[in-house]
Amino acid sequence: MSKTIKKIGVLTSGGDSPGMNAGIRAVVRTCAFHNIECVGIVQGYQGMIRGEFIPMDARSVKGIINKGGTILKTARSKDFRTPEGRKKAYDNLKKEGVDALVVIGGDGSFTGAMVFSSEFDMPVMGIPGTIDNDIFGTTHTLGYDTALNTVVEVIDKIRDTASSHDRLFFIEVMGRDVGHIALNVGVAGGAEEILIPEENLGLDRLLESLHRSKNSGKSSSIVIVAEGDKIGKNVFELKDYVDEHMSEYEVRVSVLGHMQRGGSPSCFDRVLASRMGVKAVESLLEGKSNYMVGLLNDVMSLTPLDQAIKGQSKINLELLRVSDIMTT
Ligand code: ATP
Repeated sequence: MSKTIKKIGVLTSGGDSPGMNAGIRAVVRTCAFHNIECVGIVQGYQGMIRGEFIPMDARSVKGIINKGGTILKTARSKDFRTPEGRKKAYDNLKKEGVDALVVIGGDGSFTGAMVFSSEFDMPVMGIPGTIDNDIFGTTHTLGYDTALNTVVEVIDKIRDTASSHDRLFFIEVMGRDVGHIALNVGVAGGAEEILIPEENLGLDRLLESLHRSKNSGKSSSIVIVAEGDKIGKNVFELKDYVDEHMSEYEVRVSVLGHMQRGGSPSCFDRVLASRMGVKAVESLLEGKSNYMVGLLNDVMSLTPLDQAIKGQSKINLELLRVSDIMTT
């Protein structure tokens, strides 16, 4: 028999992503709906160790659904990696009367949640919050859709310059070890080539493809490079290589960086966050623990945290083929 939950703690951890605030709002309001208390934990696990809790009610999360970042702040906590740090965090939660946790973050945050709940009697539920979409058990993580829209807007702008000056642009996008962002924005932004970690194109094929597009009458080109791509050491090395082997193009590099993580969440991310928050709280109330909520076939589903962490989020092979066809 699972214990009765009277108070849930919610925290954001790891890198921020658009939609985290909408997720906090959903958790808080679902708690209010079910007449249970909710506290926000400031700066993720670090705030748990410091004992920094904010009581939250339905009204305290007004006006945040459209805000990027996280009102609770986020952090990476070294102390939480130690048994002493986690014990301190547990003692603080007990003092505060917190019976269960909703952790909004990436795979590292979920690992921390798993370790914590195996050591102490504390049910945990994860909400995947990262723009990289690199978590198994959901087709979309919170913030991914917003990041795609942000990057596509920037590609459109860079294309204006590329075509005005007949230039070749290498645009590096985030995504860590997976190519979800690169593949999608590459197709949506009409890129000539998309370099992703899952598919090693090789430098020769890249040159061949750029020659082909030049010969087909294109005067400018955009190549999207996922930050985890292994074809060159980095995007600047790619530029040097193409500079050396292709005099036809003036080559430029644009590394988009952290702007991809900010901004107001898209409609999709706001709806996803709301659904995930409801599912997370109601699953805890049903006595479940150690799961991540996710979206699979447009249905809210639960994946055990260990599978969410270990499983690989796979690239859409059909999209890869579409991209190949579009770049002919
Ligand atoms: P992002 O996708 O943005 O990197 P993340 O959740 O993967 O987000 P991490 O920095 O890897 O971010 O993890 C967040 C926090 O989770 C860490 O700072 C640490 O406090 C905690 N954590 C991660 N791994 C462990 C672990 N093995 N044991 C205890 N805590 C951990």
